[in-house]
Amino acid sequence: MTSIVSKLPQVGTTIFTTMSALAAEVGAINLSQGFPDYNCSPELIELVNKAMKDGHNQYAPMAGVKALRNEIAHKTKKLYSADYDPDTEITITAGGTQAIFTAITAIINPNDEVIVFEPAFDCYAPAIKLAGGVVKSLELQPGNNYRIDWAMVKKLTNNRTKLIILNSPHNPTATILHQEDIEELSAIVKDQDILILSDEVYEHLIYDGEIHHSMARYLELQQRSFIIASFGKLLHATGWKVGYCLAPAYLMQEFRKVHQFLVFSVNSAMQYGIAEYLKDENIYLNLPAFFQEKRDHFKKGLAETKFELLPSYGSYFQSVRYGHLTNEADTDFALRLTKEAGVACIPTSVFYTQGTDHKVLRFCFAKRQETLDDAVNRLIDFKL
Ligand code: GLN
Repeated sequence: MTSIVSKLPQVGTTIFTTMSALAAEVGAINLSQGFPDYNCSPELIELVNKAMKDGHNQYAPMAGVKALRNEIAHKTKKLYSADYDPDTEITITAGGTQAIFTAITAIINPNDEVIVFEPAFDCYAPAIKLAGGVVKSLELQPGNNYRIDWAMVKKLTNNRTKLIILNSPHNPTATILHQEDIEELSAIVKDQDILILSDEVYEHLIYDGEIHHSMARYLELQQRSFIIASFGKLLHATGWKVGYCLAPAYLMQEFRKVHQFLVFSVNSAMQYGIAEYLKDENIYLNLPAFFQEKRDHFKKGLAETKFELLPSYGSYFQSVRYGHLTNEADTDFALRLTKEAGVACIPTSVFYTQGTDHKVLRFCFAKRQETLDDAVNRLIDFKL
């Protein structure tokens, strides 16, 4: 065997792949990896089908199908009053993860520092390291409702700070940014050469009448931000792996330099189908209510278990604390719940570089009501 030097020696297989595989192996209800267990709209499937029959089976333009970029520009204007030029400021990607990797690769040079809030979605740090960047992580605490301590952020910034990664609604904690966060963030980046990567893949999954504080709403922030969005979440079709990136032209130019050599372009038929489907604004306007009903139903069920519920303001996740029930590590407890209770979840310590274990588990509620009820009953019956 030829010897190689691993570029990511600490990295194994993602927790999502691991837990979904285990759930399938032991026949557990899979509330681990975030994806719906119901189908996307038949009408959308028809539209994609039609696009294929109409002959949209060759390469899409590198930046994505124009009709879809136009729809995205319209949606972004309508929701956030922001202007993005479909020609130079919107690129269709093969999902959120690719967009995140592309943005980081495009702008991070060796030794650039990137501020990441933990628990953090697991694709950020590897991308930063592969680009030669340095991860500066700041831990958030469940006791403090995972709020960002901006004074600590300020302390972490210096002239090597190139990027701050934000994620609202947040995976895995289901928290959201508030107006005060926007003000604090704006004060920190003002007059600094700091960019923002804003992972907004759960933008439409926000509850209790809260608004989504997209970077697109705030001109000074918008002009230094890559915003990442996901059609997987919007369309209940995570397996299609279609998303997009919004960025001002000077940033998008660099993004596309990488994008064209990473994927070149994304499958064309899906893009034509989605563009047609999105003409109906209700598709995204109805999403908060659709998911809030699921969240409320699941919350009500979980309240019958011994777990302590953390708030879920957005995303399709509900987390619980169990430290008052057992001292087991969350990674062990998640395995035991999957095997013995028959409900798979995600232990949140894996999203901390140091493996910090607050004894918090994440469940995905993007499921049919029967699935959620079945899972809740199994959790109620589970003897610790
Ligand atoms: N975003 C999904 C989750 O948090 C997982 C995506 C993936 O598996 N890469 O569960």
